[in-house]
Amino acid sequence: MPIRILPDAVASQIAAGEVVERPASVVKELLENALDAGARNITVTVEGGGRALLRVADDGQGIPAGEVVLAFARHATSKLTTADDLSHVQTLGFRGEALASIASVSRLSVVTRAAGEGVGTQLRLEGGALAARTPIGAPQGTVLSVENLFYNVPARLKFLKSETSERSYIAQLVSRYALAYPQVRFRLVFDNRINFQSTGSGDAREVLAAAYGVELARQLLELGSVYDAPPPTAAPSDDEEALFLHERRARDVIDVHGFISPPAINRANRRDIALFVNGRWVQDIRLSTAVLQAYHTMLMVGRYPIAVIHLTLPAEDVDVNVHPTKAEVRFRYPDAAFSAVERAVRRTLTALAPVPHFAPRQWSQDGDPSRPAPDWSPDWGVFAAGPLAIPATVAPNLEAAAQAPLPPVVQAPLPAPDVPLLRVIGQVGAAYIVAEGPDGLYLIDQHAAHERVLYEAYRLQRAAAYVVSQALLEPVAVEVPADAAALLDSQLEALRQIGFSLEPFGGNTFLVRSLPTVLGRVDPVRAVRVVVEDFEEDETLLAAEVEARLIARVCKRAAVKAGQVLSPAEQITLVRELEKCVSPRTCPHGRPTMIHLSVDAVERQFGRKG
Ligand code: ADP
Ligand code: MG
Repeated sequence: MPIRILPDAVASQIAAGEVVERPASVVKELLENALDAGARNITVTVEGGGRALLRVADDGQGIPAGEVVLAFARHATSKLTTADDLSHVQTLGFRGEALASIASVSRLSVVTRAAGEGVGTQLRLEGGALAARTPIGAPQGTVLSVENLFYNVPARLKFLKSETSERSYIAQLVSRYALAYPQVRFRLVFDNRINFQSTGSGDAREVLAAAYGVELARQLLELGSVYDAPPPTAAPSDDEEALFLHERRARDVIDVHGFISPPAINRANRRDIALFVNGRWVQDIRLSTAVLQAYHTMLMVGRYPIAVIHLTLPAEDVDVNVHPTKAEVRFRYPDAAFSAVERAVRRTLTALAPVPHFAPRQWSQDGDPSRPAPDWSPDWGVFAAGPLAIPATVAPNLEAAAQAPLPPVVQAPLPAPDVPLLRVIGQVGAAYIVAEGPDGLYLIDQHAAHERVLYEAYRLQRAAAYVVSQALLEPVAVEVPADAAALLDSQLEALRQIGFSLEPFGGNTFLVRSLPTVLGRVDPVRAVRVVVEDFEEDETLLAAEVEARLIARVCKRAAVKAGQVLSPAEQITLVRELEKCVSPRTCPHGRPTMIHLSVDAVERQFGRKG
């Protein structure tokens, strides 16, 4: 795209603000420009802590001769045309302010030659005013030199720190970008001495070694990518269903990767927690809190881990135009981002680092690589096809017990709709799973929890028009009451969409050919009865609401019952799936799936606290 002046509307939408605070902010902007230009080699040269000289040389696509002057005008950018583009920014820059701002507070020169042009251009500016322009022979790319930064802004000069501090800001910044772009070769030179360089080989661990030393880099743990689902298709609207879906997918669509330190390696401050969102280095207190929370109880108070964490998510789910320096972003689904980070870190820690406390050996490994695929992939049906099949017998007394009210003193108010990452301790009464969270003990009703998990999985499949159904080996004939038969007959297509394939078989009899996979081994006759009962209750024929209710009932039938003994692996799978739910704390019928016993409440019960 050619460089052009942004329309006024866009310009005013981009909040005004100071871009250049200190030498490191100049380096940041110039690095971003070089990366946006597709550079593979970037050299940063600094003299006198950045006051005397800051130079960034790249081998990117260069600036066309006809656009070089324009590049220094305010709000001139080649990266954005309409206000609409702001909602899905793919480049690091987009505000068209950096060059203009930097030029206005320094003496600047640029030498650039664009790909495909024979001659380059040299430009000199003083305090933003064009001083000279000459054609010049140059390799493809851009070399931008900033001399005498703030020479015309004495107030700013006064606020600069010592050369050493300014250098350390710059060093930190360059190594951060090198970590984010391991395929780009970075070189940082301070007063003729190489301070840092990366190879550009694409190997992230090599960059870590350059930044932190070989020994430390070797000990860092690589985060497993937790979620890897296809990007969402439905855009959210006022439609509740669409919102549910989008929120649910947002959780699965955030890819988290990077490196973290094992608890034994830690620091006195949180400076070494580096977060990148879609390749952009960001400062985000909530996300760094998510990292810290994942280390909860593993680090001493006042100690912080090293973490280099990259979040990748759809551009339209992040607002990057929050701050003039673009160092802060806003998430459309902040909770999803928070829990994606927390979970990725926690899982890696529990899988790769030995867990303290009292976890029995075979259960402590819950960061399992054998995690089931996300629910909407074709082989999602882990519960139905997998270990949690419906037991032949149900213990009704236990199920009743599961629903009995609990003494109010135990029931702490549930703090948030989300559940934190839980560590499964075991099963009690063949009906409840006991788990530990950062904030106390959780008692999970396995039946209600499984109902919730199946329900959300079913709705996701339904929305993706991909309800998994399972053909019966032999079609089964079901006879239904006459009035229901007429209704059923008129709804065969709608039923097929939720996984029931039925065929009229004369009279009031239907042949069941397949059932939704979630129904597992439920007797087909009983399954069809569930459907028919629902028709009888409400004749608004499979309106969305009825369908949701029907699905809820189907899930109730399919869910694991109280009285069934679950293996440790089954318990963990169930809890992991529950954590991913949008409404994990209630079953589809509104009953609670869990009781939370906070540490505080326990202490009160034991009389340790008044
Ligand atoms: P922004 O990056 O927000 O577009 P800048 O003021 O940083 O705004 O840069 C203005 C324009 O100059 C960019 O849009 C780009 O077209 C061009 N430009 C700046 N630096 C470089 C570079 N190193 N290589 C190629 N083009 C560049
Ligand atoms: Mg820029």
